[in-house]
Parts: sequence; C-alpha cells; structure tokens
Amino acid sequence: MQTEKVRVRFAPSPTGPLHMGGVRTALFNYLFARQHKGTFVLRIEDTDKQRYVPGAEKYIIESLNWCGIIPDEGVASDGNMVSEASSRHPFAPYRQSERKHIYREYAQQLIDQGDAYYAFDTPEELESYRKEAEGRGDTFIYNHAFRNKTANSLNMSAQETGRRLMENNHWVIRFKIPVNKTIEMTDLIRGEVSVESDTLDDKVLWKANDGLPTYHLANIVDDHLMEISHVIRGEEWLPSLPLHYLLYEAFGWQDHRPQFAHLPLLLKPDGKGKLSKRDGDKLGFPVFPLEWNSPDGDRSRGYREDGYYPEAFVNLLALLGWNPGTEQELFSMEDLIQSFSLERVAKSGARFNPEKARWFNQQYLRSRSDARLVQDFIPVLQSKGIKTTPLKAEKVVSLIKSRATFVKDFWDLSHYFFVPPQSFDMTQKKKHWKEETPGIVLGAKEVLEACTPFDVPSIDKTLHEWIEQSQLKTGQVMNALRLCVVGEPQGPGIADIMAVIGKEDTLARLEFALKTL
Ligand code: GLU
Repeated sequence: MQTEKVRVRFAPSPTGPLHMGGVRTALFNYLFARQHKGTFVLRIEDTDKQRYVPGAEKYIIESLNWCGIIPDEGVASDGNMVSEASSRHPFAPYRQSERKHIYREYAQQLIDQGDAYYAFDTPEELESYRKEAEGRGDTFIYNHAFRNKTANSLNMSAQETGRRLMENNHWVIRFKIPVNKTIEMTDLIRGEVSVESDTLDDKVLWKANDGLPTYHLANIVDDHLMEISHVIRGEEWLPSLPLHYLLYEAFGWQDHRPQFAHLPLLLKPDGKGKLSKRDGDKLGFPVFPLEWNSPDGDRSRGYREDGYYPEAFVNLLALLGWNPGTEQELFSMEDLIQSFSLERVAKSGARFNPEKARWFNQQYLRSRSDARLVQDFIPVLQSKGIKTTPLKAEKVVSLIKSRATFVKDFWDLSHYFFVPPQSFDMTQKKKHWKEETPGIVLGAKEVLEACTPFDVPSIDKTLHEWIEQSQLKTGQVMNALRLCVVGEPQGPGIADIMAVIGKEDTLARLEFALKTL
C-alpha cells in the first residue's frame, strides 16, 4: 500500500564506479520525488565486504552532484549527512555499515517465527552440489527439497544447532521459501507478474563471518524503516522481487510494502545485449559519468572529461527508456520534473546511441551564449600560448560554434584565426593554384588594402565588385583566398575570417602565400 508521502531512494553499492544506467536510476527516482513534492534519499548499501571498492562512494556522490541530482536525505559528499536537519533525522544513518546493529534482530525475528534457519553448508559442499546438478543437466536450486537433506537448524536438535553456532562463524541464515506457492506481484512498469516459489532459492540473509546482513535483508529492512513509498530500480533486480514480497509478508509489513518499478536495461548500440562497463572502452564512448581511476590503475573515460555538459548527459539519459509521448527531445531538469511519468517508461530495453548522445551535447552547446562559451575557450587558448582579446575570442566562437560538438573541438575549428598558416594543403594547392592565381591574389590584395572600414559588408562588397569588374569567377577567387588565409579548406565565409583577423594580418597572409605557394 502506498504511504501518503512519496519517499524514494537511490541505493547504490560502492562496488565500483557508477555506470550510466545507475545514474539513470538515480535520475528517475529524483524526478519522481520532485514531481510529487516527495523526498529523494541516498542510501549507501555497503554490506558486501568482498566487493567493496575504496573511492566508489565518493565517486557516486560526485557523479550525482555533477548531474544536479541532489538528495534531500542521505550520505553526502563530505561523508556525512546531506544537511544538518537530516543528520538529526530519525531515519539516519544512511550508510548500511553504520546500521549493523539494526539488522540482527530482524534476522532473529524470522528465525524465531520459523521463516528462516541457520545453515552450515561449507562453500566446498555447495560447489559440489552445484557441479552435481550441472552434471545432470539441471540448475542447482537451494529449495525445500534440498534443505531437507543438508546440515541446517531445521534438521537438527536445538542443542546441536547451538553447538554448531558456537563452534565457528562459518554459518549463515537463510530465508525459508514457502513450498508450492504462487507469488503474485505488481510492477508499475510491467504490470502483474507471478512466480512459483519452488523455483526460488533460500537466499542468504545473514553471514556470520562478516557479521553483516546481505543485500536482501538490509534492503527490505531499510526500505521499511525509512518509509520508502516507491522502489524504482534496474530490471536486474526483478528476479529478487518475489523474495522481497515474501520478506515483507514474513515481517507482517505487506500492507506497507512500497510500490515497485523496474526500469528497462540499457542496451549496446547494436541492440544486442546489455550495455556493460567494458563496452565504453571497446566501442569508443564513455559509459561512466566521470572518469574513473580504479585502485589497481585502470582508467575509464567519463562523460564529464569527454566534454559533455551535465545538462546534455541528463537529457540523454532521461530519454533512455522514457519518452514524453511528443516529439520534444530537449528537456531541462525542470522540464523533466514536469513531464516525467513512470507510465511512459518502456518495458523493453533502451538502445544506447552514441551519435545521438553527441547530438544532445551539440544542441546544448549551440544554445549557450557566446560570452559563456568564451569563458570555456579562453583557458584552451591560454594553454596554447595564444594572447587574444575577449572580443576576438567571442567573434571566433560565434563563427565556429555551429560546427562544434564540444568546446574541445573549438581549437581545431579555429586555430587559423589565431595562428597564420605556416604550410598549405597540397591537394588544395593542386586544385586551386593555377598559373593565373598569383595575379588574382595580387589583385585582391590591392583592393583589400584600400577597403575601409575593414568589416564584413565592405570586404564582401569590395571583393564582389572587383570580381565582376575583372570578369573572374567567384569560386576561383574565393578558393584561392581561402587557401592563402586559412591554409586548408575549412571555416566560415572568407570575409568573416578576414574581418576577424584584421587588415594587416590578412595582407600579410596573402603576401606570405604568394611567396610560398
Ligand atoms: N544496492 C543495490 C544496487 O547496487 C540496490 C538495488 C535496489 O535498489 O534495491 O543496485
């Protein structure tokens, strides 16, 4: 049953950098919370000690910050709480390793009720059962048929169990899946789903050797205690839903069970299979929000370092699996908060298109003011040792930005505005430098020398009048001038370029070309 107030959570495990699919899960939770004037909680699920990766929690928080997905409650960048208010909050702490003391009594409750039991199988035994089943062509299921045969508290006297528990800490607590039961579930995206209990494993809820709960127990207990109203998470958790339903029932919380929504997978660009953490490096695009340097020295690229704007990244993620039902593609965070709905989230996987991702960045770049783009461009120019005025940089940016996808493209698209060509494109020379060309360039040089003011309209007028008078062809002249001034076949109109570099530089470039070509 839905509690009155919307409370959602993003509950990542710090087992590595956050995949872009994880960011999308956080985003959808955030949008849902904002839209319903609810609360977005960030809970860190760090009970799996074997898979814990140092630095991953910090990375997750930094990624969310970069995207503007800011939690209302939970663990924050300084490792503390989001705000003073939330540190005093009754739901705190939000890192599961700091909530250890809470879970044991819930595991005990299930044991006492007969819904869970102590199991003493060693990892070697489990491995050999698994192999044996595989040998028969079966999948090993740790279900009621199996638990009747092995060493556990269901088959032992209380004394024997007590003795085994004291002997060492190699035991676990397992959930006792009810026999022959149909579990009927509702998913807000997939509708009604049902599963037979006999196909489910008696999952481990508690590991004595870690002294910690597993994901399943901690997740259910925390969602309940934190009064989570909706669980919005990736499709990979759908197979856990029956167990989670059974746990809610076992605890007697079924009337306060959150509603569930499982988001579709992100697929590789060819649609064949899940977009994995390794795909980025293989296929040449980032799959992580930020660059990640793993403790063992591996480096993976990130959207931020590749030059994406966070707004573009958020926009492209939102449309992976959700659609507004209209043609609109560009959405600010505010627009998304208005338009988002779980009803319009697709069931089938969302294919990632790296071309489209770049397109989004290009749209956001084009919508930036020139003054703002210049702020990002000036450091690039400085790193190249270029001294220029903000006015010139802004003019350049306004001329080239329609050809750029990222600010990092600016230099390649504009270097000739700042540094005269030292050499010339030979293919262009072959094409456009004929016997009569030096004479033509000389003629153009003369009329340009007399052209005042040296701005775009008068340069254009001067050149065209002269071309007409001399009965030349526009293409012939312009291609030759471009070769002289730019050195290669790129850039905006030739008059635009000349006006920006100024008369003196223009004439010097023509002079140098005449000597060199
Ligand atoms: N800790 C789980 C994860 O890493 C959370 C799954 C859930 O949201 O229930 O994705």
